Amino acid sequence: MDTLQFIEGEFPWLMPSFAFVMGAIVGSFLNVCIYRIPAGKSIVSPGSTCACGQAIAWYDNIPILSWFILRGKARCCGGAYSFRYPFVEALTGFFFLAAWLSHSPLKALCLMLFSAMLVCASFIDFDHMEIPDRFSIGLAAIGFGLSVLVPELHDVARSEFAFASVKAALDSAIGILIGSATILWIALLAEAILRKEAMGFGDVKLLGGIGAFLGWQGAIFSIFGGALLGCIGLLFWSIVKKFRPQTETPSVPATPKTESEDDDQSLERHIPFGPMLSGGALLYAFLLETEVLQYFSQFETLYREISQRL
Ligand SMILES: [Zn+2]
Repeated sequence: MDTLQFIEGEFPWLMPSFAFVMGAIVGSFLNVCIYRIPAGKSIVSPGSTCACGQAIAWYDNIPILSWFILRGKARCCGGAYSFRYPFVEALTGFFFLAAWLSHSPLKALCLMLFSAMLVCASFIDFDHMEIPDRFSIGLAAIGFGLSVLVPELHDVARSEFAFASVKAALDSAIGILIGSATILWIALLAEAILRKEAMGFGDVKLLGGIGAFLGWQGAIFSIFGGALLGCIGLLFWSIVKKFRPQTETPSVPATPKTESEDDDQSLERHIPFGPMLSGGALLYAFLLETEVLQYFSQFETLYREISQRL
């Protein structure tokens, strides 16, 4: 840790830049995962290939930069590459940078892994209206495991508690339970009112995973912060759709659609909640944690005052 402090003192820009570049490289790998995992293909081999079957050379596969150097076209066949590739890379880079700047190194590393898994789950949810269990349940399992190994994730200092790992694991477990239970009740309520399935079970599991990393406060915030982000996003989407010519087709790698997906893919009928919940979770993790925790602790104080008076 002393070396790290020395580096931060002498070259304050070095570690943040490194975090961003690492994020962009991880983002490049996430692009592969987003495309291959739902298709049931291996994410390790073969290496990156173009849609035409040619292998992509390393110098054409530099995160973010290559897309702009090649102006979004493959060198081999001139096929169009979706802007989503550099976008996912830049987004992941930005999240890694935000994690590094907002938390201590160990917690930042945990949150980098957290954000990478959320990016992957969100884009798969966006494409396929489904969050694979390996992300939702995987997030819960990894979050719980990391809490035991790195109690700092739940801001439990090792010196403060003799059983720091136990305390952090408890925070994580409560986060899983309260997170998934709260959204389950909201889903059931919405289903009763709207008389149709409003949320998938995948969202319930995903929020459990978010709670495992962020505790119950973060999980609760993700629902409401995510709903707010979703409203802003939907507004944005409807404006973009209004002004975009109808002939333009998305250049996302074409995936064969199944019958159930085919009829009503429009965002008006099916709203993916995964990206919203993820957005809310990262907003909490990188920006609003202190404020939200303060907000929730006010309720505790209020509760204590009331119970003293009774
Ligand atoms: Zn090609």
